[in-house]
Amino acid sequence: MALRYFCNTKISTYHHHHAKEALGELRSSIENVKSLISNTLKLPSLSSSSSSPLQSLQRGNWVKLICGASFEDVVDIRNLSLVYTLSGVDCIDCAADASVVSAVNEGILAAKEIAGLQKKPWVMISVNDDKDLHFRKAEFDPENCPANCSRPCEIVCPANAISFLGKSASGTSSNTELPRVLVDGVITERCYGCGRCLPVCPYDKIREVTYVRDAATTADLLRRNDVDAMEIHTSGRQSAQFKELWCALGNSVENLKLMKASALQIK
Ligand code: SF4
Ligand code: SF4
Repeated sequence: MALRYFCNTKISTYHHHHAKEALGELRSSIENVKSLISNTLKLPSLSSSSSSPLQSLQRGNWVKLICGASFEDVVDIRNLSLVYTLSGVDCIDCAADASVVSAVNEGILAAKEIAGLQKKPWVMISVNDDKDLHFRKAEFDPENCPANCSRPCEIVCPANAISFLGKSASGTSSNTELPRVLVDGVITERCYGCGRCLPVCPYDKIREVTYVRDAATTADLLRRNDVDAMEIHTSGRQSAQFKELWCALGNSVENLKLMKASALQIK
């Protein structure tokens, strides 16, 4: 499938010959834009980028979409997966959660059906064996927030994960296809633990909640056989924790095509 360029415009049909002239100029201008882009970027067409993720890895031009180890908004994740599969990424990295993995695979399938792609990105999950900044959420009780607070937490959050619409009868999320009732405070599935809100609260009301992904649940997820790769974030402080996680995963890792271990600090 070749790259396509779309242009939307309005041309008055009142003076017909002027409209024809304008259309001709527009076509020529679009051709100029096309040639400028293709001469500068050398973008591959989707059909020519049908090499496997493994080949990209070996050639050193592997491209991965990182949804976030803690980001769990399945609607956004499905849509991101669809768009990035169309753009030809090699891998989609997501939270080790059954609903999230299903959303990624739905997005990939939808993209393949739309464009008839041969190449399928690998689905990678991220897990941890110890405390790690990738695996945390912010939390606060909005009932404890002073009424006159200017809510800097809401302003600073890059994920629209802090809401005060819950008390509004029309409160809906702009990030879902269907209206849903919002609760005040942190929308847990949208919080990816970036930590930006933590220092800005003038009343020190926000706390971080860290967690370690449950190994047995991860093993069950891997046995579904719709995950291709796994990244284990390890602290590097004690190999015993890594070993414990690895043993708990058992033979569930046998279907994986790629395993990556990231150490935060090696002492
Ligand atoms: S840590 Fe705070 S700022 Fe970052 S995504 Fe979560 S709620 Fe938003
Ligand atoms: S900044 Fe702190 S006190 Fe203000 S709304 Fe946010 S969490 Fe509540």
